[in-house]
Amino acid sequence: MPIRVLSEEVASKIAAGEVVERPASVAKELVENSIDAGATEIKVEVRQGGRRLMRVIDDGAGIPANEVELAFARHATSKIASLDDLSSIATLGFRGEALASIAAVSQLTIVTRTTEEEVGTQLRLEGGKVAQRQKKGSPQGTVVTVENLFYNVPARLKFLRSETTERKHIDGLIHRYAMAYPDLRFSLINDGRLTFQSLGTGQLYDVVIKVYGLELAQQMLEVQSSKLDNLKPGTQNLEPIIDVYGYISIPSLHRANRNYLTFFVNGRWVQDRMLSYAVSEAYHTLLPTGRYPVVVLCLTLDPSQVDINVHPTKSEIRFLDSNAVFTAVQKAVRRTLMDQTTIPRMAGLPSQWSAQEMERRRRLVEVGSERRAQVELALEMQRPVGVEAPSAFEFAEPARLPPLRVLGQVVQTYIIAEGPEGLYLIDQHTAHERVLYERLMAERARMAITSQALLQPLTVELPLQPQVTVEESLEFLSQLGFDIEPFGGDTYLVRAAPTMLAQGDIAQAIAEIVDELTTGRAIGTGEERALISLVCHSAVRAGQTLSIEEMRDLIRQLEQTTMPRTCPHGRPTMIHLSVAQLAREFGRG
Ligand code: ADP
Ligand code: MG
Repeated sequence: MPIRVLSEEVASKIAAGEVVERPASVAKELVENSIDAGATEIKVEVRQGGRRLMRVIDDGAGIPANEVELAFARHATSKIASLDDLSSIATLGFRGEALASIAAVSQLTIVTRTTEEEVGTQLRLEGGKVAQRQKKGSPQGTVVTVENLFYNVPARLKFLRSETTERKHIDGLIHRYAMAYPDLRFSLINDGRLTFQSLGTGQLYDVVIKVYGLELAQQMLEVQSSKLDNLKPGTQNLEPIIDVYGYISIPSLHRANRNYLTFFVNGRWVQDRMLSYAVSEAYHTLLPTGRYPVVVLCLTLDPSQVDINVHPTKSEIRFLDSNAVFTAVQKAVRRTLMDQTTIPRMAGLPSQWSAQEMERRRRLVEVGSERRAQVELALEMQRPVGVEAPSAFEFAEPARLPPLRVLGQVVQTYIIAEGPEGLYLIDQHTAHERVLYERLMAERARMAITSQALLQPLTVELPLQPQVTVEESLEFLSQLGFDIEPFGGDTYLVRAAPTMLAQGDIAQAIAEIVDELTTGRAIGTGEERALISLVCHSAVRAGQTLSIEEMRDLIRQLEQTTMPRTCPHGRPTMIHLSVAQLAREFGRG
């Protein structure tokens, strides 16, 4: 489409506001333009945190000579023309304001050439006014150079932070675009030094390695939504509605803030509370409270399902069906975590890995060639006899518990144990919850939850729930090993219960499971909480006297779990007093 000035009617429907806040906003707009122009290679040059100079070079379509001036007019765009276009935008830009706004507050030079033209055009603007225009030989594509940003608005200059801070914002921005577009080659040159480069291989994982480093990348799991996550509840529709793809950190890797949660929706970086919440829900019970995972997730959905015309910088969006998006993200992430954490490590034989996972593992080893020998050696030494050589990936598993020796019980609630690194106080209830939880998840995955007939059938009442039918609850309960049949009215007869619940209050557990089932926000989370309540009712209570043998048993089982340090509710299972801490407390220096 040629560049045209939008009609008053269309222009008035576009979220208005200033987009040039700081150097990083300039970088963002220019890079988005390059991506929209179909570039395969984008170079960004920055001097003095972008204040002195910012240059974006692309090999995209270029702007025809007779449209160059128009590109700098307000509301001039080649990306939309009518109101209709606004409802399904497939490009990053559409407001036609960026070039005009940037040119107004800087000294800007553009050199551009399309394939059809033999010679390019150079245009120089000062504070938005054309200062010079000439023909100029240039390769196909566009180079925009923005110098002395805010030179004519000293008030704005005052609001800029230090050069380092501004530079970091630009770095973060380029990293994000490189991850959102792994098939493009991005280079970032800061004050003459190449500080970042993506390879343009099309593999997100390659960019993740470049952005976060190999060490961290090794602790990331691949997320891929399956069609099952996308089924519209209650329909036979097998079309994926929302595709979720990306990488998430294993639970032992976490950060103190949300800065490492990165989301892209249809190639656009977005900040969205609901998406962060969906991820937190998926990690529920796996991370200590107040800690956040490292996540890079790309969502793809029909553009008509998203409204991006909410905010001038377009980093806030609105989903038409935000529940569906929440569920898709939460399920995809949760399933990835569960697959990785409940199945015993060595069960994942290479033949069962997807082609993509194989490829990922191959790359992992390839990229880390210097570290490879080191990694392999470490793995060789750990490897039990007769087990296939694990890949470098296993190297990143969270540290398990050291062997512990039980010494006794305190207030019939805590187990005291000694390990090579000091003293451990273990909460018998939360520790047992962790053990039972992982067992339940593994048995459930194999559909092998063991059940035990009751000597005396038990009657329970299941009140009708609005959100989940009794049939659905019964179905779920039977999957968990309960055998329940109608006994007239709201009353039901329980004939068998899961074996692990043998010592627990069966009626109470059923009531809570049904309750949790109906209160989960997304389908998955209710079930998740229901499983946790079964585990909670099955675990040994605080205040219960345990024999040394029973305690040893519990600790041995805890040692086998993948996440021994927290219970499924996320509370700690143990407190560790290191030898050094003890020495310090006793003043041994
Ligand atoms: P928008 O991106 O919202 O359309 P801009 O002010 O950013 O508005 O750009 C105006 C127009 O200039 C774009 O619609 C596009 O046609 C053209 N343009 C800007 N940058 C480039 C580029 N790097 N390569 C090709 N065309 C460009
Ligand atoms: Mg633009």
